[in-house]
Amino acid sequence: MALKLVKTGLFSSIQVPFNFIEYAAKEELHTAARELDMGILAMKPFAGGMIDNAAIAFKFLRQYPDVIPIPGYDSVDSVDEVVSFYQSPNIVTERDTRLMDKYRKELGKQFCRRCEYCQPCPNGVMITPAMAYKIIASRMSPAVSVEFSRAAMESVKLCDDCGACIERCPYELPIPEMLKSSYDLYEQHLAELK
Ligand code: SF4
Ligand code: SF4
Repeated sequence: MALKLVKTGLFSSIQVPFNFIEYAAKEELHTAARELDMGILAMKPFAGGMIDNAAIAFKFLRQYPDVIPIPGYDSVDSVDEVVSFYQSPNIVTERDTRLMDKYRKELGKQFCRRCEYCQPCPNGVMITPAMAYKIIASRMSPAVSVEFSRAAMESVKLCDDCGACIERCPYELPIPEMLKSSYDLYEQHLAELK
């Protein structure tokens, strides 16, 4: 659809997700936009928070100098950090490439982008934070992960598989299945902490 719209020539810019995990746009879509001299904006430069390393995210993005990333900022310090990346040449080393691959492998193809289009759940399941449990657990200890996510994970028990969220998810994620798998890990952590 985005490609069709670009080709109409009616628009002056295009804004779609673009980061080292979701980079399909760089093929046809960005090429078509460039041919029409359109501005290209990179939405979700941190993949909805899945990339927790701003330096590596920008190393990837700066390889496309005509693509303008539009990150969300929560402090003046984070603005300063991003500005600092642009004060030296962009060098992507083999180590950087390996790190990007590690993120891709860890997330796989099915991961939540935290867009929240699936919500609200009629049963009150806190879908987005519960979907993030595995990522949280990969970065924090089980004790901290359990404490941090307790409310969201306890809400998973309210899921009755109605499927309403699946219909709303633009990435067609099997949400109840993924929630159950996150919950299994949460339960395992609870058991370990007893
Ligand atoms: S499938 Fe589960 S999480 Fe999704 S909307 Fe229904 S009850 Fe909520
Ligand atoms: S709609 Fe899909 S990608 Fe977006 S927050 Fe819900 S589960 Fe995640």
